[in-house]
Amino acid sequence: MNCIFCKIRDGEIPSKILYENEVAFAILDINPMNFGHVLVISKNHYKDILEIPKSEAADLFSAVQLISKSLTEALNLEGFNVISNKGEIAGQSIFHFHFHIIPRYKNDNINFVRSLKKYTDQEFQEVFQKINQHIKK
Ligand code: AMP
Ligand code: ZN
Repeated sequence: MNCIFCKIRDGEIPSKILYENEVAFAILDINPMNFGHVLVISKNHYKDILEIPKSEAADLFSAVQLISKSLTEALNLEGFNVISNKGEIAGQSIFHFHFHIIPRYKNDNINFVRSLKKYTDQEFQEVFQKINQHIKK
């Protein structure tokens, strides 16, 4: 499979592994939104968050939490964003599951554009129902 993250995992593309556990490894993003931008990548090749089996979810989350703590201390972060893009429309460019941990500081000029929409009461009810019915299935 022609997958950059599988190649990094297998040592076919040289890279510095910051951390690894049973199910995940962490590297620095080569095109960081801020210095210290880390990717926590599943060891197994899953396309995106929907493919992650429950059995691996806890250790993946632990890796994210551990790296986030270390980053906060090491780089004196004021905050960070944890993001996983799913699908091209959402900005996913590598189709092997990963979380981004993006360091944040006051006035760092990073903007996650949030265009706010407004529900009518009826729309809120309808959207809630639609999703809730699927969850109950
Ligand atoms: P996404 O667009 O959410 O799929 O994220 C993919 C990320 O992988 C981007 O932020 C890239 O900068 C990063 N990236 C691509 N190739 C490499 C690489 N060889 N080493 C580290 N990060 C990479
Ligand atoms: Zn892969």
